[in-house]
Amino acid sequence: MSKPAILTVDDDPRVSAAISRDLQSRYGAEYRVVRATSGDEALGVLTKLALRSQPVAMIASDQRMPAMTGIEMLERARTIAPGAKQLLLTAYADTGVAIKAINDIGLDHYLLKPWDPPDERLYPVIDDLLGDWRRANPEVTTDLRVVGHRWSDRSHEIKTFLARNHVPYRWYDVERNPESQQLMELAQATAAELPLVLVPEGETLRAPSTPDLADSLGISTRAEQPLYDVCIVGGGPAGLAAAVYAASEGLSTVIVEREAPGGQAGQSARIENYLGFPNGLSGSDLAQRAVAQAARFGAETVLARDVVGLQTRGPVHAVVLEGAGDIEARSIIVATGVSYRQLGADGIDDFTGRGIYYGANASDATQCQGDDVHIVGAANSAGQAALNLARFAKRVVLVVRAPTLKDRMSRYLVDRIEHNSTIEVRYSSEVVGCAGDGHLERLTIVDRASDTREDVPASWLFVFIGASPRTDWLGPDIARDDKGFVVTGQDLQHPAYEEQWRLTRPPFALETSRPGVFAAGDVRLDSMKRVASAVGEGAMSVHLVHRYLATI
Ligand SMILES: Cc1cc2nc3c(=O)[nH]c(=O)nc-3n(C[C@H](O)[C@H](O)[C@H](O)COP(=O)(O)OP(=O)(O)OC[C@H]3O[C@@H](n4cnc5c(N)ncnc54)[C@H](O)[C@@H]3O)c2cc1C
Repeated sequence: MSKPAILTVDDDPRVSAAISRDLQSRYGAEYRVVRATSGDEALGVLTKLALRSQPVAMIASDQRMPAMTGIEMLERARTIAPGAKQLLLTAYADTGVAIKAINDIGLDHYLLKPWDPPDERLYPVIDDLLGDWRRANPEVTTDLRVVGHRWSDRSHEIKTFLARNHVPYRWYDVERNPESQQLMELAQATAAELPLVLVPEGETLRAPSTPDLADSLGISTRAEQPLYDVCIVGGGPAGLAAAVYAASEGLSTVIVEREAPGGQAGQSARIENYLGFPNGLSGSDLAQRAVAQAARFGAETVLARDVVGLQTRGPVHAVVLEGAGDIEARSIIVATGVSYRQLGADGIDDFTGRGIYYGANASDATQCQGDDVHIVGAANSAGQAALNLARFAKRVVLVVRAPTLKDRMSRYLVDRIEHNSTIEVRYSSEVVGCAGDGHLERLTIVDRASDTREDVPASWLFVFIGASPRTDWLGPDIARDDKGFVVTGQDLQHPAYEEQWRLTRPPFALETSRPGVFAAGDVRLDSMKRVASAVGEGAMSVHLVHRYLATI
């Protein structure tokens, strides 16, 4: 496969030569650095690369150019090279324009000229952008191969597991990709053994379970120690923050996550309100950084394990793992967040994983290239997904029950959706039925305002509706409200829960009705449901764990 391209665009020959030289010296081994000196020329180069199916990883453009500004060119480039990272090179005077472009055209980053020394001012930014691009385009950078049916739910689960754990893979659809038949013959595999996972220098896995897949990729699925100071259940922002703080403060720490670190935030194409990241950052990037940080401090991670029970054995607690024993710890932090509610439409169960998906990963977007996509939901998560999918899909239809988006979605997202010609919003509407032969082919949408019902062709439906905590596994001793949110701290003194707190000392903030078991993040009653608050509660819970451990 040919090297992915980095395109630089600048009308000043000296600056153009300087940026190309700096990029070539650092990235030339892996990328082809291509130059253009005007917006028109850049669009021509991108068209040629697209016709040759050559991937474009990044476009770095000057803002002030005659005839076409950098931002105008980058906006038009989105349709030719939709996945390419976009960097604007600006003078200080254009900072306001660049910040506006982050909102208006989804600019990934801007850099002030000059960028000397590049080791400090250029390369860290480009390393991040190219790292993100590589993770979103694993087919360009890996030898791990997955062969399966496009509409098989198991294939989708395996692809999601790999993507969310940042394991790059190449996908071979048995119906569309002739090489997949060759791979099946080489592996002597039958259709019943799909999906196949061909691990480089490893064995060929036939329809593997998630723990087996994780094991063969060297992803840890078992705890190493007999007893920990703290066991954290859930690897979203709250759990990862707790792991970083606990391990860095010397507590022996294990974190158990059933899918992939990052939680809901890991699905976010761009988190824009997290302090310190004015350009936003992808949830997957945030998760990867947090996992590395927790590991650096010595926190252990156990993946692909569902926690299904909680027991107390004298001064020690134990979390029970599905099919894999238990983990004992002197304290527990429950950080299991929330999961999307099921959509109540006829036929939904037949197509879940076969065209209908709850949430969407960044990698789902590329798979919808050129197709129509439907999304159900009206909150920020649905809005972010619509904008992300619109970069690749032919058309995105957002189906919204309310007559407006403004009630539940942040204004910056509403503005962008209204100005995006690829996105159509169907207000006062609901998806009430799904049909197809083996995979989703049609949706029935009811318009409550006009009282009309319409069948529309559809092969992709992403659902982002109200989330609920799945906390049954905690058992009756841990107080929860009628929706399942965990009651903590002062709220336990409410008459409805006070009988469940049995000690004479009052509960610590974030402590549940079982002493030594804490809850942090979205799973907690009255939590704020934001990345920053989940991170804050995760960090705070560790301070409270120290106080609890001092009492036993
Ligand atoms: C698409 C999307 C976009 C978003 N965008 C933003 C944004 O831009 N800004 C913002 O502030 N917020 C955003 N949010 C909200 C934010 O992501 C959440 O508030 C935050 O992730 C909550 O963190 P958490 O750690 O409490 O829970 P979660 O992120 O829900 O993580 C919980 C983790 O626990 C795991 N788990 C659950 N049960 C078990 C079990 N029994 N055993 C083992 N593991 C288990 C789950 O797999 C999950 O990984 C977004 C949410 C979504 C879905």
